[in-house]
Amino acid sequence: MQNILRHIPKTDKLLKALQRELESNFNLNLAKKLILEFLENYRQDLLQGGEILEFQACVQCIIKQYHSLTQKSLKPLVNATGIVVHTNLGRSVFSPSILQEIYPILTRYNNLEYNEEKGCRSERYVHLKGLFKALLGAEDVLVVNNNAAAVFLIFNTFAKGKEVVVSRGELIEIGGSFRIPKVMSDSGAILHEIGTTNKTHLKDYKEAINENTAMLFKAHKSNYAMSGFVKEVEFGEIVELAKMQNLIDYYDLGSGYFGLSGFEKSLKKFEPALEEIAKLNPSLVSFSGDKLLGGAQAGIIFGKKALIDELKKNQLLRMLRVDKFTIAALEATLNAYLEGKTDKIPTCHLLLKDKAELKQEAEALARLIPQDFAPEVIPTKSYSGGGAMPSHYLDSFGVAIEAKSLTPLGLDEEQLEKSLRSFGIIARLENCALILDVRTLLAGDKERIAEALKNLAHLKHKN
Ligand SMILES: *Cc1c(COP(=O)(O)O)cnc(C)c1O
Repeated sequence: MQNILRHIPKTDKLLKALQRELESNFNLNLAKKLILEFLENYRQDLLQGGEILEFQACVQCIIKQYHSLTQKSLKPLVNATGIVVHTNLGRSVFSPSILQEIYPILTRYNNLEYNEEKGCRSERYVHLKGLFKALLGAEDVLVVNNNAAAVFLIFNTFAKGKEVVVSRGELIEIGGSFRIPKVMSDSGAILHEIGTTNKTHLKDYKEAINENTAMLFKAHKSNYAMSGFVKEVEFGEIVELAKMQNLIDYYDLGSGYFGLSGFEKSLKKFEPALEEIAKLNPSLVSFSGDKLLGGAQAGIIFGKKALIDELKKNQLLRMLRVDKFTIAALEATLNAYLEGKTDKIPTCHLLLKDKAELKQEAEALARLIPQDFAPEVIPTKSYSGGGAMPSHYLDSFGVAIEAKSLTPLGLDEEQLEKSLRSFGIIARLENCALILDVRTLLAGDKERIAEALKNLAHLKHKN
């Protein structure tokens, strides 16, 4: 037994070897920790009849662990799915040029909560107020961690122990287990459902109002659409009714967009732009900062100043507050809208690409891909994602690699999709083909796809 343990290498010998291999990446503390862990496991293994490792195999084992710990887990991927605002892939892509603009703010002290004129403490939300006034004519604005937090904060502030009137057609569930009825009960609000799944009328709202009613609520149908025998009440009518009855109206818009973004033309018939909603003079509206807006994760609340002031008094706001990263990112993004420079915002840019441009990009991608794959340019359907226009697709182009062209390489389309994932490329499968939609490709992505496919073809030819 003791003889076997003699094969365990000495710690300082391992340390020296690691230092040699890792060069400038070598960190003594981490190396020591991993060597101890490795030796302990190796000892157990040997005692249980495990195989004896060469010294160099031990070193490589520890180095592998070292790299897996020091390499970043969060990393850039290629989105070839055609879904522009893809929550699993980080939602809206943040603008490289806006990141440059805010770099000096984030890497220095700043006036986040300081009024340098008066030399006194200030509020972090003031930085966005003027922009929302200019863009939407909104009285005031508040920003929290995300839109889910905004919904919770609003219910908790205005409807704790009171009723919120909601259409049965809008009791939504969105990804990540956010369900309106549950959010409402957790916030202390009482749900008062009205109408039916497919039809809700203004009179349903009127009849529901009683002395315990606090709010008339509307939720955007972000991820489903209803058609056929359906009726919902326009938000404008809800605002009017709320005003008459001295109640708060609130619209959870999910994914708000500015008409200024330029995609009003294609979106308008599905949902109104923020400017249109602001014109209705609503009590409160909330939406996400990283869906169609194309900024950073945030829940943006705008509306009446008196109500925003109430929200600011809620202790919960301290738990939901955003930091300088979010405020700087949103301020610069909103500035881009105000100045009409929406091309800087990747989400706008990607959604606005036209068919001719997309076709050219698909052709360029097809030329880069090794001909073993018989790449074929095809029209595709891409989606905005991010809780907007769930039933509407955007015409796009892509490159298809069909199953039959993969046979000589000893692959099928599912194996290809999986292999591409190992190169950080996310594509989709459709009718026995792998589809790479070019709408969502960013600078350098075509080359990265071509390189991955070249490597795959090379590996297959070698086998
Ligand atoms: C996306 C969405 C939310 C949640 O927004 P997050 O910013 O993801 O927290 C809430 N309501 C609706 C209608 C949505 O579409």
